[in-house]
Amino acid sequence: MDEKCLSDLRTQFPLLQQLTALDEVFWVNPNIETFESGIKKCTISEEDVRDAEKRLERFAPYIVSAFPDTKSTNGIIESPLVNIPSMKKSLESDYQKSLRGELLLKCDSHLPISGSIKARGGIYEVLKHAEKLALQHNLITLEDDYSIFDSDRFRDFFSRYSIVVGSTGNLGLSIGIMSAKLGFNVTVHMSSDAKEWKKDLLRSKNVNVIEYEADYSKAVEEGRKQAAVDPSCYFVDDENSKDLFLGYSVAASRLDKQLKELKITVDENHPLFVYLPCGVGGGPGGVAFGLKLMFRDHVHCFFAEPTHSPSMLLGLMTGLHDQISVQEIGIDNK
Ligand SMILES: *Cc1c(COP(=O)(O)O)cnc(C)c1O
Repeated sequence: MDEKCLSDLRTQFPLLQQLTALDEVFWVNPNIETFESGIKKCTISEEDVRDAEKRLERFAPYIVSAFPDTKSTNGIIESPLVNIPSMKKSLESDYQKSLRGELLLKCDSHLPISGSIKARGGIYEVLKHAEKLALQHNLITLEDDYSIFDSDRFRDFFSRYSIVVGSTGNLGLSIGIMSAKLGFNVTVHMSSDAKEWKKDLLRSKNVNVIEYEADYSKAVEEGRKQAAVDPSCYFVDDENSKDLFLGYSVAASRLDKQLKELKITVDENHPLFVYLPCGVGGGPGGVAFGLKLMFRDHVHCFFAEPTHSPSMLLGLMTGLHDQISVQEIGIDNK
């Protein structure tokens, strides 16, 4: 981006100055649309989300068999929704304001198998790929009991294929653990900010881990390159994947069920405010999409990003989306 462009942007969006200064900022999208008008422009539908939900149900018998810690939820990978009144009190006293309604925490950090929200999207995408291969080779039908995926016959079959992903850590954990369990050859390209224990854990599960000095974009780029030269190799693309997005979106119907169990109503008079940690935007984007389908204009989603990497805010506010990077406005992405 040239200097002229940048200075025009700075004039048009004064908030950019605060972003560059690494200040914490709050932004409400002035172009927000109603559900009714927004949904018409979507290339993904409620049917796609339901299809993803059903696929995860088909795989539940396999998940129970391969990961016994999902036994209590019958192979459905889900996290608790809990009330956090002490946190609420603490916030009220810090900000000298009273918070109406209840404050709840959705503990996706406690999702089984890989301990982050990536256990939704990442695992879903690997399962979908495995199902597609198995269907193509007449190893299963949609009506079969999918626990047969947990067998030497299937592991031998999947060992002829490979899966590749670029990651800062958590996506690599999800894709790596799930792919290796099914029998795939899996390679995770890890950026410099990935934690050592995550690399060690993956290596202990027979995942190839390749490390880079550079940041996340480089790790993704290398993964993409590796996959492009090998037709038996499947690349999980964190920056563009519709399947990751759909895997995340299934969270909404699960949350709806949990809210009902807690007898919490969401409607015109009881709006739901959701605060979603955001990296490249696929995770919170998918969850927000699912929530909008479920609660329409009664849910309000806020994405929370690190001040050193406000990429989603920058893309949304300027309308430039992935055509602008935080580095271009002088932020280090560290
Ligand atoms: C990946 C991740 C996110 C955000 O997901 P993106 O798709 O990168 O926006 C949030 N929290 C944690 C712990 C994650 O691993």
